[in-house]
Amino acid sequence: MIIAVDGPSGAGKSTVARILAGKLGFLYIDTGAMYRALTLKALENNVPIADEKKIFELARLTKIDLRNNADGSLSVILDGRDISLDIRKPKITQFVSDLAKIKEVRQVLVRLQRDLGLSRDCVLDGRDIGTVVFPDAQKKFFIDASLEERVNRRFKELKCLGQDVSENDVAKDLSNRDNIDSTREASPLRKAEDAIYIDTTKLSIEQVVSKIMEYII
Ligand code: C5P
Repeated sequence: MIIAVDGPSGAGKSTVARILAGKLGFLYIDTGAMYRALTLKALENNVPIADEKKIFELARLTKIDLRNNADGSLSVILDGRDISLDIRKPKITQFVSDLAKIKEVRQVLVRLQRDLGLSRDCVLDGRDIGTVVFPDAQKKFFIDASLEERVNRRFKELKCLGQDVSENDVAKDLSNRDNIDSTREASPLRKAEDAIYIDTTKLSIEQVVSKIMEYII
């Protein structure tokens, strides 16, 4: 079974999808982590994100693995190196949406997502899972929340990671990514027609997970 969880940045998709996968014994695939991993590689190798041809070449030469750990966490491996924490840094967040709008790059990563997704039952979270990656997914959810609440959640999350950010920075980042992700030409962020829409603004993570579980079992 394939469960697609889409939605804007900071809506809680990753946390919900990870818990859901753990409860169901499914593989968890964080597709945003793949775009972040490639952004890290581009920045480390001084490849300009705007150089679409070079970024595409880089994508084809890159190996990204996702490891579901026994404790429920996810390790992101770039060319054999664990970069799970590095990809959450502000510099990566700042550039990732510009890289993710490159059509050819999306094709490379979508192929990887499909290969992984077809290997066993899984929960995938992203922006285009229910619309493009797995349009025939058995269950589709679109997780949303007000911008204010998303800023609030992301701010707390980054503080926990020890990052020195202001709420204003987080608000700017989320609005900027919302805008790029939903207006790009290639696979823009949108709700699949058959996805179940869940507004999580006033819900806890546990409430969202149990709401989704009701639709699954
Ligand atoms: O989910 P996360 O915030 O880590 O994703 C980082 C960025 O990767 C998003 O802002 C978006 O630009 C891009 N992305 C995407 N398609 C996906 C997952 C993420 O374009 N399926």
